[in-house]
Amino acid sequence: MQPSSGEAEAVALRVAATVRPDVRGLSAYAVGHAPGAVKLDAMENPYDLPAEVRDDIAAAVRATPLNRYPAGRNDALEAAVRTAFGVPGPAALLFGNGSDELIHLVVQACCQPGDVVMSPVPSFVIFAMAARLNHARFVGVPLTPDFELDLPAMLAAIQAHRPKVIFLAVPNNPTGGRWTDEAISAILAAAPGLVVIDEAYQPFCDGTWMPRAAELDNAVVLRTVSKIGLAGLRFGYLAGAPAWIAEFDKVRPPYNIDVLTQAVLLAVLRHKPVLDGQAARLRADRPVLAAALAALPGVTVYPSSANFLLVRFSGKMGANAVHQALKTRKIRVRDFPDDDSALAGCLRISLGTPDEHAALLAALRDILS
Ligand code: PMP
Repeated sequence: MQPSSGEAEAVALRVAATVRPDVRGLSAYAVGHAPGAVKLDAMENPYDLPAEVRDDIAAAVRATPLNRYPAGRNDALEAAVRTAFGVPGPAALLFGNGSDELIHLVVQACCQPGDVVMSPVPSFVIFAMAARLNHARFVGVPLTPDFELDLPAMLAAIQAHRPKVIFLAVPNNPTGGRWTDEAISAILAAAPGLVVIDEAYQPFCDGTWMPRAAELDNAVVLRTVSKIGLAGLRFGYLAGAPAWIAEFDKVRPPYNIDVLTQAVLLAVLRHKPVLDGQAARLRADRPVLAAALAALPGVTVYPSSANFLLVRFSGKMGANAVHQALKTRKIRVRDFPDDDSALAGCLRISLGTPDEHAALLAALRDILS
């Protein structure tokens, strides 16, 4: 039964008087839903898992009791994650329900109201959101106009604002660039608190800070399995010196990784070369798509070390119009709000299969002609 208009008004008044004003002012994180579309908007791996892996997953699920809470530790999973992703022995590990959750936990553990959380901008929007929801103050340091890290500005902002936590997405989302090790070292040397090196897109480039995860006294390394084919699973991990990880573990919800996620991940990691092969394939297709896009009129493609390309449309048709035209052709890419000045005019296009790239390019040739 629908509430009467009087009842709805009473609820609205109570909500307004109770829920934090800054939360009421937010919009919920928009998750696109586009059944049947060519989906190039969310940096997912477009390739499915082969039948033998699916069989192992099915067996693992069948063998998993659901009546008990997840155990406090899962040594087999921890060992498998260490081996699969090169986590050094002395580093401690914390698992998250997606790396999103770990971003929130770090801010929660480190920041008191008013403390500063910093990252270059544009970068992953959850860094600012986690700061906001935990009553910290977010300071974004603009990238250069061509989306490079502005190291002098970053160092000056660190000096001025003394951030408790700095997030560095390496490679960066949504721009795709990878900050140099020298620049990151300079930031680590200047940072008064913790630096989280977020390597969500590391499988699509060469460098990594993971081997140094335990020896860095003011940095931890964050990863996810979302971009390598397991976005539906919700699993991220944070590696660092045990003293950092022990504190973050205190704010982790006790059963944050459910038994099915644990069982499925363990089964899939036995086939890690399959995931590596898919990532390598995407990586090999990246320059091919980049070159084809760059050959279109009015299109600039920014250098990418990730599984997506940031593309600027400066012809007579703007990015938003291109986005709409692609949408009517059932091709989904990511657009940015008009008021997002740095990214205005850009679309972010995730890497897909060669067939999906062909469909995208055919549509764009048509739209831009
Ligand atoms: N870090 C970065 C830089 C990202 O772009 C994303 C996903 N868009 C995440 C973390 C979160 O990934 P997940 O929660 O799926 O692990």
